[in-house]
Amino acid sequence: MLNNAFAERLKQSVQNFAHCHLSSIFGKIQFKNDMTQTPPCIKCQSAVTYFDGSLFHCTECFHEWTQEDMDAAENSAKVLDSNGNELFDGDDVTVIKDLKVKGSSMVVKRGTRARGIRLSADDPTHVQAKVDGQTIFILTEFLKK
Ligand SMILES: [Zn+2]
Repeated sequence: MLNNAFAERLKQSVQNFAHCHLSSIFGKIQFKNDMTQTPPCIKCQSAVTYFDGSLFHCTECFHEWTQEDMDAAENSAKVLDSNGNELFDGDDVTVIKDLKVKGSSMVVKRGTRARGIRLSADDPTHVQAKVDGQTIFILTEFLKK
């Protein structure tokens, strides 16, 4: 029985090793892709872009940007709902709490479906949504997809 336990532990550690190994290969593939493909333009989303060694250039709107700009955009632009799912322009969401709309007598009831949300560029904690024909801003922590 002792041998069995030992064999089991060995198998486990081999699996752990295999897992680490796979991840590092995957990391390398990712890296290779990053080197050969330039990302879409962060301004106009055009796919026709090139990298000159320090700056990315867009051939359509002539925007120039750096890797740092892209990292910053990635980190700041994520808008998450109450479950941590990323929200995008045009998503339909459900309100999970009764919400009083500031500056009006309107109350958005829990379970209300808000269609076609718009993200705001400078505030990832709110989205713009149309409810009962009114455009309102809702805290994303009270929304779910
Ligand atoms: Zn562009």
